[in-house]
Amino acid sequence: MNAPQHHQVMILGSGPSGLTAAVYTSRANLSPVLIHGPMPGGQLTTTTEVENYPGFKNGIMGPDLMLAMEAQAKRFGTEVVVDTVVEADLSSRPFQLKTNNASYTCDTLIISTGASPRLLGLDAEKELMGYGVSTCATCDGAFFRDKIITVVGGGDSACEEAMFLTRFASKVYLIHRRDELRASKIMAERTINHDKIEVLWNKQVKSIEGTKQDGVTSAMLFDSQTKEESELKTDAVFIAIGHIPNSSLFKGQIDLDENGYIITKPDSTATNIEGVYACGDVQDHTFRQAITAAGTGCMAAIEAERWLEAQE
Ligand code: NAP
Repeated sequence: MNAPQHHQVMILGSGPSGLTAAVYTSRANLSPVLIHGPMPGGQLTTTTEVENYPGFKNGIMGPDLMLAMEAQAKRFGTEVVVDTVVEADLSSRPFQLKTNNASYTCDTLIISTGASPRLLGLDAEKELMGYGVSTCATCDGAFFRDKIITVVGGGDSACEEAMFLTRFASKVYLIHRRDELRASKIMAERTINHDKIEVLWNKQVKSIEGTKQDGVTSAMLFDSQTKEESELKTDAVFIAIGHIPNSSLFKGQIDLDENGYIITKPDSTATNIEGVYACGDVQDHTFRQAITAAGTGCMAAIEAERWLEAQE
């Protein structure tokens, strides 16, 4: 492999937080290099219309918003690299990074690696993802018009997805592992009272049956109260059981909370390592909005810029 390329600022991840950090650091003439990561554009690329990002009175499609942010970052000189970081050594400065194709060193690092949907750990989640198994109702719901759809989870996301899917489905089952929803009261009530939604309580999904050719045909459920197994005929399974922050690369180096979110200092994006900042969903389990991610991306850029200035 060639000698590492050195940059003042490197940004990991291309969602709203990373791209906002890129806009700010490139406008500060810091020539940032942004490594796309495995999901270019981040989670917004899996949504359709975004109605709550300020500035778009008629809404904007998620992928279009991300393309516009990337074009804006490039306009000011951000170098965007289509690659994924596979190793990070933050034990000394300059920090060292290895991607699939190259190695880098940098003076300051902005981590905006986001979060990924949590999965149940079933084989079908690998085999049938995109063939009847999904983690994104807004992306895939319309494929199941007049079909039976099953949603797994008991939080606000699961209720929101179930409600959204009633637009298409003939029937929506919500599978929850307990006898009470975790979702906010108002969301829970709307879900339980919806004509098209039936909540199946105390049930765990043991397997999802189907093939790539025929799609999903059924799910095997286990009732934790009666200990009985049953088969549920369904044409799709949407998993909505929360998210996992993409922080595993930094485990043992950066302070993480018990759920793996990067811990940042109060009113700051600074981590426990001087010169390393974290923004967006990898450090935010509370708000998780595009606009809050962009806001923390801006904070990280300004903090990195000030820190670099102080080193000179
Ligand atoms: P969440 O609140 O953490 O809920 C996850 C749900 O999935 C829980 O009901 C949990 O069951 C279940 N679950 C977790 N692992 C499971 C497993 N292995 N098998 C079966 N079930 C499993 O996640 P979320 O719904 O994504 O929400 C995250 C945050 O975003 C929350 O603060 C939420 O309020 C917020 N949010 C808000 C809105 C809104 O206001 N419109 C929409 C979406 C999300 P248990 O209940 O048994 O733990």
